[in-house]
Parts: sequence; C-alpha cells; structure tokens
Amino acid sequence: MENENLLAIAKEFGSPVYVYDSSKIISQYNRLSNAFKKVKRVKLNYAVKALSNMTILKLMNSLGAGLDTVSIQEVNLGLKAGVKASNIIFTPNGVSLEEIEQVSALGVQINIDNLSILEQFGTKHPDVPVCIRINPHVLAGGNSKISVGHIDSKFGISIHQIPHILRIVENTGMNINGIHMHTGSDILDIEVFLYASEILFETAKNFKDLDFIDFGSGFKVPYKLGDIETDIEEFGEKLTKRFNAFCKEYGKELILGFEPGKFLVSEAGYFLAKVNVVKQTTSTVFAGIDSGFNHLIRPMFYNSHHEIINISNPEGKERFYSIVGYICETDTFATNRRISEINEGDTIAFKNAGAYCFSMASNYNSRYRPAEILWHEGEAHLIRKRETFDDLIKNQVDADIFSKITETAS
Ligand SMILES: *Cc1c(COP(=O)(O)O)cnc(C)c1O
Repeated sequence: MENENLLAIAKEFGSPVYVYDSSKIISQYNRLSNAFKKVKRVKLNYAVKALSNMTILKLMNSLGAGLDTVSIQEVNLGLKAGVKASNIIFTPNGVSLEEIEQVSALGVQINIDNLSILEQFGTKHPDVPVCIRINPHVLAGGNSKISVGHIDSKFGISIHQIPHILRIVENTGMNINGIHMHTGSDILDIEVFLYASEILFETAKNFKDLDFIDFGSGFKVPYKLGDIETDIEEFGEKLTKRFNAFCKEYGKELILGFEPGKFLVSEAGYFLAKVNVVKQTTSTVFAGIDSGFNHLIRPMFYNSHHEIINISNPEGKERFYSIVGYICETDTFATNRRISEINEGDTIAFKNAGAYCFSMASNYNSRYRPAEILWHEGEAHLIRKRETFDDLIKNQVDADIFSKITETAS
C-alpha cells in the first residue's frame, strides 16, 4: 500500500487503526497454492487465530481456503462467516472433552493431541473419524518460545507413543483419518521440515484409512529487508515429490494439508498510530504513540521486530528513536530505530501487522480496541468499528451492595 492511502485511512477512520491489504492476502494464498500445484489434492486451512475478523474469514472462504481453529468460538465465527463445517479443522490443545464433542457434533474435523482424550473420545464415538497430532520432536527454528516440537512440549502425541495410540485405536474400534504435525512458527531450514515430514510418513504407515496428512504451518515471512524467509517454491517442489511418492507407496491419493496463519496475513497488515509526544532524555529520543501493548503486544511478548515508518514525513532526515506506548508499564515497540524525523502529531505505520496483532489486543488501561479496515481494490472498507465506552462496561454488573456497608458503618 502507498503511504498516501494509509494516511487517508488514518484521517478518515482515526487512530490507532489496523489496515489489511486484501491483494497481499490473495497473492500469498496463490503463491502457496502454486507451490503445490503438482499435488492432486491440497487443502489450505487458514489459521483463524492469526486474524479472526469475519470479513477476513469470508475472503479466505472465497479463495477456497478452509479454516484451522483452536476454540469452539473460532469454529462458530467461521460458520457465521459462511464456511462449511466440512471445511473446518479443529486443532486445539488442552481443551475439554465436552468442547471437542460439541465441535464434532457440528460436523467439523477433530484433531486430538493427547492420549487421554483420544481414548475417551474413541470409546464414546468410535464412528467419528479423528485426526491425531503427532509430535515428531523436531525443532524448527531457533526461538524456543515458538518451537513446539521439543520433547517436553505440551503439543502433540509423541512419536514414541505410537504403540499406545495403536492400542487405543484397536481397543475402541475408532478410525484415524488424518495425521498432523505443527512443529512451530519458524521454518527456516527446509531440510529440517522435510526430515520431520519423513517421521510423519513413517507414522502414517501405521494407519490404513487415512484421508489426509496435515503438515501444519511455520512458514517464515520477512520482517525486514534482507530477512530470511521460507523459500516456498523450493519447499513446494521438494515436498511435492516426496508426498506424491508416498501416496503411491500408501496406495491412495491423500490430501496434503497446511494451516498457514502468518504466511497469509502478516505482511498484509499495517498498524497506524499517532505520535502524542516526542520526549528527549539524557540518552534517548522517545516517540510516545497513542497505543501500547494493549493493541500490539508482539514486540514485548516475542521480541519481534516490526518495521516502523513515519508516513507523515517519509522523506525527512533520519534520526534515532525509541518508540514507546502510552500504557503505564514498560511498553517499548522499538529501541534505537532509524526513522525519518518525527514531529508530534505525525502518523507512524508498523508493518507486518496482520498476524497475531489485533487478535491479541486487549482493553488494558481501559482503552478501546482499534478499528479494522480492509483495503480492497483501491477502497477502504470498515470491517470492525472502534470500541466505545459502552463496550468497556457492557458486561459489568453494578452490584448494589455498598450502601449497606455505609449504613452498618454509620
Ligand atoms: C497457530 C497455529 C497455526 C498457524 O501458525 P502460523 O505460524 O501463524 O502459520 C497452524 N496450526 C496450528 C495447530 C496452530 O496452533
């Protein structure tokens, strides 16, 4: 998107505001589809938790994507957006048997990631086909906060427990129709991913009635110039070859599944905020914006890097700034960042603000969550209104109890 487009949106809809460029989402979807066009049956399920606005879910649906969900509420959002239950997969962690049963009753594909629930669900519903999430114990990427494949991870059933899975399947008579893994959110090394895939193929041979193998996600997107990103085309070529060979060996044309979140929406997003104050200390120039980790927590939570541009003065002389929020806690978005000169009142844009940004926003400090805008074919569409004071208080119950205390006291 052009700076003028973003500035016009901030002017029309106010600040802070999230903006998503539909053309980037569409091109990322097509890029991933094309990388696997030589596989007969491919299913891309968009991971709703990355960005769960219903208009975004509708866009995904129109592209032919299914949905990957982690809560019954995400399932219901998808259904409300018009996505068919048969196009939704439920891959939760640590949820109750009751919630899994409720989601299953809606006709959604269930993915189970622990032996206890597998045994209970299989005993009660032997006729419902179930996918199992395997932990191949392969570390993809270096950031331990987002690698979920290690030995003590809470995610997935260990490959070392295959004999136990097989015993449960035999005892309950249930049918396993899919095998799944999601090793983390940072595939830097294709070879590591292919190695994990081999473990998945090995596991798959234990199950005779599979319909699909789901390779999860973890595609890396660039956050700054020169960043390493997953080479989707090379990855597609290599995994396609291996997957097709496996299908031949298995004796069935299986569906190859992925659940990309970040890959589809991260780069499509911009977060716009206004500079309230420029403050000079003995060592630093702070630019304080009308936002904080209540709206964008990734820099503080994951140490993630978001490019920041001063769209009010993009050609200005560059200086070094620390960009901070207005929350009464340390909420530093960026330190010692080279940005074109900032004046109070300027609008700055955070890039890569599509995934895990709005969806992680909160009302901390009793601030409203921002509006969301979809930029589609040259026009800005409001897809979520900014919250108002009523949103802050609508579920609060005014327990009328203190008058009595006052009476007793007096
Ligand atoms: C979060 C999640 C994803 C999406 O991960 P990204 O890194 O955003 O692509 C996919 N599958 C499961 C099971 C997840 O929990």
